[in-house]
Amino acid sequence: STLASPLLDVRGVTVRFGGLTALDAVSFEVRQGEILALIGPNGAGKSTMIGVVSGARAPDTGSVRFAGEDVSVRNAAQRSRLGIARTFQSAEVLRSLSVLENVMAAAYARHGSGFVAGLLGARSAHGSAARMRELALAQLELVGLTALAAQPAGLLTAGQQRLLAVARGLATEARLLILDEPAAGLNATEKHTLSRLIQQIRGRGTTIMFVEHDLAFVGRLADRMVVLDHGRLLAQGEPDEVRADPAVVAAYLGN
Ligand code: ADP
Ligand code: MG
Repeated sequence: STLASPLLDVRGVTVRFGGLTALDAVSFEVRQGEILALIGPNGAGKSTMIGVVSGARAPDTGSVRFAGEDVSVRNAAQRSRLGIARTFQSAEVLRSLSVLENVMAAAYARHGSGFVAGLLGARSAHGSAARMRELALAQLELVGLTALAAQPAGLLTAGQQRLLAVARGLATEARLLILDEPAAGLNATEKHTLSRLIQQIRGRGTTIMFVEHDLAFVGRLADRMVVLDHGRLLAQGEPDEVRADPAVVAAYLGN
C-alpha cells in the first residue's frame, strides 16, 4: 500500500566537514521492497549519506528512522543488528581468509556470539555454527562464487571481490542492503550478473539502496532514483522522469 510507512526515512540530514557542507538538509525515503538508486556526480555526498544511514557518521542535524524506529542514537553495530547492511566503495575483503570464511565472518558480525561459542566447542552452539556455514554457502551460490569458496579472497579478481562484498552483506540477512558503487570496475558481463543479482535479492524481500555513477545501468535497475549534487537533493522520482529533469542533465554535463 502507498500508505505503508517507509523502511528508511532520512530527514533533514546535514553533514559538515569544516567549511564544506557535504550534505545540506537532505530528506528522502526508501520504501519497503524497492530498489532505490542514489546518484550524483563525484563529491555529491553519496558515500557520506551511506555513512549517516549505516551509523558510521553522526549528522550535524537531522534524523534517520528505520522500520519505524529513530535509529539516530544507535551506532553502526546496533544498526547492523537491526538489519541495515552496507558494502564499501572499495571492496573490503579479508584477503588471507578463504572466500567462504569471508562470508561467514560477515554473518558473525550480526549473529555473532553463538558462532564464537560454536568455535570454542560449546555443544549447544554447534547447530549455530553449522547454520552459519550453510547461510554463507547459500550467499556464495547466489552470487556465483561457490566454485571459489576455498580460495583465499585475495586471489579473486576485482569484479569477484565486489560480488564477494555483496555476499558478505547478504549473509547478515539484512532488511536493507546498501551498496556503494557495486558496479565500479566491473566489466559488461559482471555488470549484467550484478544487475540480475540485485533483482534476485529484492525478489526474496530485501530492500536495496545502491550508489551508482552509470545512469544507463541505474535506469534499467532502479524503481526510483534520488539525485544529490554538491550535498543538496537535486531530484527524486522514477528513472525516466529523473533522467529527463533538466537540473539532473545539467549536473551530469557540468561534471
Ligand atoms: P560521493 O560519494 O558522492 O562522491 P562523498 O560523500 O564521498 O561524495 O564526499 C562529499 C564531499 O565531502 C566531498 O567534497 C568530499 O571531499 C568531502 N568529504 C567526504 N568525507 C570527508 C572527510 N572525512 N573529511 C573531509 N571531507 C570529506
Ligand atoms: Mg562515494
